[in-house]
Amino acid sequence: MPELPEVEAWARELDPLVSRSPIEQAGPAHIATLKTFDPPLATLAGRKFAGSRRRGKNLLFPTADGELVLRIHLMSAGRLRYHVPGAKTPKTPMFRLRFTDGGELVLTEGGKKKRAGVWLFTPATLDAELAHLGPEALGLPRATLREILTCERRQLHPLLRDQRALTGIGRAHANEILWRARLSPFVLSTQLKEDEIERLGAAIEDDLSRALALREAGKGDADVYLIHNRLGEPCAVCATTIRRVDFEEHTIYYCPTCQTGGRELKDRRMSRLLR
Ligand SMILES: [Zn+2]
Repeated sequence: MPELPEVEAWARELDPLVSRSPIEQAGPAHIATLKTFDPPLATLAGRKFAGSRRRGKNLLFPTADGELVLRIHLMSAGRLRYHVPGAKTPKTPMFRLRFTDGGELVLTEGGKKKRAGVWLFTPATLDAELAHLGPEALGLPRATLREILTCERRQLHPLLRDQRALTGIGRAHANEILWRARLSPFVLSTQLKEDEIERLGAAIEDDLSRALALREAGKGDADVYLIHNRLGEPCAVCATTIRRVDFEEHTIYYCPTCQTGGRELKDRRMSRLLR
């Protein structure tokens, strides 16, 4: 699933493109993709977008008149592209929005499961819908991070991925950040010492801003990720072979030398003993 740096890079790229000319037609959208029916997509026709923004992993397109906001979440397999006027576009995308100059914003989704979503909200309903999201992970003040870590006793990897605690980080960047901070994925948040909190805060900022710069330069996963999806490769810091521990829904990659005092993580039960 695209995480903060990738979504932010897309928002910045789309910003001048979607605000260039008014909307001619919004839709059609696949029945599984369109999550709201009131206000209807047709009410976008004739309006102009103010640009594109990001909140967490959501792309937001507010109208210039301040009355509506189109929200798009790509989940794991969604792709959103702006096609210049006259360009060849997919025949049956999940969602299509056509501008009066002939440009098109097109959402496609690979795989069988259709999970990406399109919503049309008023600003007030959007705020309510996203109210559960925690503060943005990029630019997070150290004091806020300390509060997040100490208010509840949580393992670091799931805590970083919890959009209610802080928003924008998923599996891949949780792996990157904890490796960069030299912290075990299973350390309890309440047990971090002051220097470890400092390291974690610096790692969040450094990893996300580095990734954002690379994504904006058009770089892909192979350049952005230094530990995620690199099982068996040498750690870039200490050359120890990168390990992984599997869960039902995701995989944690880590360096035993940098992060777990040389110990290998077998599963959750065993990991409780590790610090
Ligand atoms: Zn290492």
